[in-house]
Amino acid sequence: MNRILITGGAGFIGSHLCEKLLNDGNDIICLDNFYTGSKDNIRHLIGNNKFELVRHDIINEYLAEVDQIYNLACPASPVHYQFNPIKTIKTSVMGTINMLGLAKRCKARILQASTSEVYGDPNIHPQVESYWGNVNPIGIRSCYDEGKRCAETLMMDYHRQNNVDIRIARIFNTFGPKMAVNDGRVVSNFIIQALKNEPITVYGDGNQTRSFCYVDDMVEALILLMNNNYIGPVNLGNPEEFTILDFAKLIIKLTNSNSKIEFKNLPQDDPVQREPDISLAKEKLNWKPSTSVEEGLIKTIKYFDNILS
Ligand code: NAD
Ligand code: UDP
Repeated sequence: MNRILITGGAGFIGSHLCEKLLNDGNDIICLDNFYTGSKDNIRHLIGNNKFELVRHDIINEYLAEVDQIYNLACPASPVHYQFNPIKTIKTSVMGTINMLGLAKRCKARILQASTSEVYGDPNIHPQVESYWGNVNPIGIRSCYDEGKRCAETLMMDYHRQNNVDIRIARIFNTFGPKMAVNDGRVVSNFIIQALKNEPITVYGDGNQTRSFCYVDDMVEALILLMNNNYIGPVNLGNPEEFTILDFAKLIIKLTNSNSKIEFKNLPQDDPVQREPDISLAKEKLNWKPSTSVEEGLIKTIKYFDNILS
């Protein structure tokens, strides 16, 4: 049994992680400022005497005695992280410094939720951990991409300089139940539009690609990484790659929807292709996703169908 702090614990991935780690018998502190997260995601855990909910913003110092820290706090949807870009980068930089300070003080192990965005608009495909990326430092995605890159730097420096026990998860696009209805990312947008028989908004020509991982697989990988001794970035994701246009067609098929596709302007700096090379995760964690994208979508569609009706 561990005392575990999960920042961003009321968010999409964080709430699944809280539930899993609590069910595994750990003591959980779920810390969140509810910027994009919601109490609804963790309401069923409140009242469990091993679960504590704290409203706090990680750009301010937080003190606790814990064994492990999962640092997930940060808006992940481009719509939300671009709404207040200064706050986004403060969360990744000042927030990560605060969490690393806490880890140092109480000798806790800390896992940083990094992202495939550290590769920017990648020149190599699929992306491997040794690739340094192709990131615009001054664009509208930079508050997120550069914030997350700086957080990785901080993790490695606290490790080298202060011997903090760190883990870095480079998370690729993840989806599943508990994504917010107003999240704005492609999976929830398309499913909601399809269920309402509204136009499916494909940005650009839809030839850009993404690879989608079901949330249960991601949670399993994050816990395996935390409890493994490998130090350094590890790609976590499902290598099943789709063009966004094909993904829209798949969702129309799975929802049996009458929606038509509507093409919209492509946002600035939208990466052209993205697919994780997960050889390192397979080798070190003995992990690969076990839920196909289609299976995961069926569960996610059911979730949204329930909350919309
Ligand atoms: P999310 O927006 O649902 O969750 C983020 C949570 O962090 C929310 O509950 C939010 O309220 C909280 N938060 C934001 N700023 C905070 C702050 N300053 N202090 C305290 N809490 C704060 O996003 P998610 O999809 O669950 O992502 C979780 C983490 O995983 C993020 O760090 C994200 O960058 C990373 N990630 C996610 C994906 C993905 O596809 N879901 C991909 C790559 C990386
Ligand atoms: N996208 C889209 N329609 C939407 C939302 C997103 O075509 O309603 C595209 C977006 O331009 C990007 C991809 O889907 O190419 C994934 O976008 P998302 O916001 O989910 O995450 P990203 O991987 O870009 O951070």
